[in-house]
Formats: sequence, structure tokens, C-alpha cells
Amino acid sequence: MPTIHTIDLKFLGEPAAIAAFAVEDEAGVTLVECGPFATNDNLIRGLKEVGINPGDVHTLLLSHIHFDHAGAAWWWAQHGTQVYVHPKGLKHMIDPTRLYASAARIYGDDNMERLWGKMEKIDEYDIAAVTDRSRLTFGGNTWVAHHTPGHASHHVAWQLGNIVFTGDVGGVKIKGGPVVPPLPPPDINLTQWKDSIQRLRSLRAEKFYLTHYGPVDAQSDHLSQLSDRLDSYVSWVGQARKSGQSEEEMTAGFTEFVEADLRSNGVTDEVIGAYRAANPPGMSVAGILRWFTYLEA
Ligand SMILES: [Zn+2]
Repeated sequence: MPTIHTIDLKFLGEPAAIAAFAVEDEAGVTLVECGPFATNDNLIRGLKEVGINPGDVHTLLLSHIHFDHAGAAWWWAQHGTQVYVHPKGLKHMIDPTRLYASAARIYGDDNMERLWGKMEKIDEYDIAAVTDRSRLTFGGNTWVAHHTPGHASHHVAWQLGNIVFTGDVGGVKIKGGPVVPPLPPPDINLTQWKDSIQRLRSLRAEKFYLTHYGPVDAQSDHLSQLSDRLDSYVSWVGQARKSGQSEEEMTAGFTEFVEADLRSNGVTDEVIGAYRAANPPGMSVAGILRWFTYLEA
């Protein structure tokens, strides 16, 4: 069993909202996720606290190219780390112009710097795409890349033996709260997500490492809870849409619905802040509406 360090990126000052994972191997360290550039100093500090220098990180495995997972990848690439990503994410990491513009449309120009920090290009020699079920070996550890769309078309879950780093496809579960699905635009696909849950199930893992946030027991009812909430979230927005609510009304109602569910499952005010930072309910309304539009197109 390799040594895995969970590094808290303290995104927006919230503990346990976004993690990066440092996995020790014979050649140094493989990093799974790096978070946004806005928290890169926190990542470097967290690594140093467990005795890891940035120069030890030979490989960075990205679950997908959303900024909260991959925003700092360019910095690591510039400092000698080889990056791996889903084929659909590759060109957007080499030239992030469109990715940045799309995020700015979703989050607002004024929020980009505060949330994510800057984004630069990655040289094409420093990043490579992985096909589904491909195997990569670094420092004696063999990783398997599982294409797992649903949350994003460009999503990979990274398996290392009986551990799977699930990115966002395994949901968000913070400090013992319930598991909830993050459903931001632009390419939520409920059908694919259900298939990806089946893929995760088929791996018979012992532990899932969630980027939001940390390890969970993979043999628990985690995946069925996630699947149930996917259905209930999508159907809530579907009903509200049928009743003619505006997106603004839906966002207010949906936030109340989600947070009542969190609270009834023991989530305290303190931890709700981390859930909001990791998975803002308004984003999910927008993402689910996009999914309906896609279905009707
Ligand atoms: Zn994401």
C-alpha cells in the first residue's frame, strides 16, 4: 500500500473543500490533482509539511480539466512535472484560451482571478492523453486510467491497485456528510454518469479518494447514495422547470432543498461552507438545465 498524503488546498479559506493527493513511489511523487493556481502556494506548503519538494513531483494525473482540479497544472508542467489528461482535455490544456473563456462565462469575469488565478499554456511535450483502461507505470506503481464521463466528458478516474481516485464522478462528501453530485455546466450527462458509476462498481475497490474530500469506504453504499441523489437533484430541477420557474427562482429553491438535505444528514454550518465552495448549488441548476436542453436538441 503506497503512502498517500491528502493535501488540503484551503480553497477560499475553507478547510476540506479541495484536495490534492501526493502518492509516494520509488521515483519520487505522483500528484493526483493540483487544484486551481489560486491555491498553488497552499499546495506547495502542504507538500513541504510532509517532506515533499516540488522537484520530487515527477507526474501529475488530472481527473478532468475543471479549474478546481487542473488550474495549476501549467505551473507544474513548467517545473518539470509530466502531466496526463483525458484526450478531450488535452488541447484545452495546451491552449487554455477557450477553456478560460468558457469558465469566465460560467463564473463571471470578475471572479476568475479570485477563484482560480491565472492559467497559462502547457507545452505539448509536457502533457499526454490517456486512452481508456490504459496503464502507466511510475516508480514501481501501475496506474489504470478509466474514462468516466458524466460529470464532464473529459473525466478520468485513476486506479492504483484497490484504490480509485474518483475526481468528481464519485461525488462530493465532506467530513462525514452525505455524498452529493456536483452538476456544473457545460456537459453533465446523467446517462453516462450512471454508466461510470457501474464502471467504478466493477473495479471492486476498497477506497475511493474524492477530490472533495478525501478517502471513503468504497464497499459502503457510497455509490448507490450518489446515484439516488443524482436522480433526486435532476428530478427536482425538472419539476421546477415544468412549473415555469425562472433560473433564479430554481437556484434559490434548489439551494434550500440541497442544504436541508445536508443538514438533515448531520452537516453543520461550518461544513456547509466547504460543501458550498466545492459544489455551489446554483452551478448544478445551470448544469442540469443544460442537460435537459441537450436531451431536447
Ligand atoms: Zn469538475
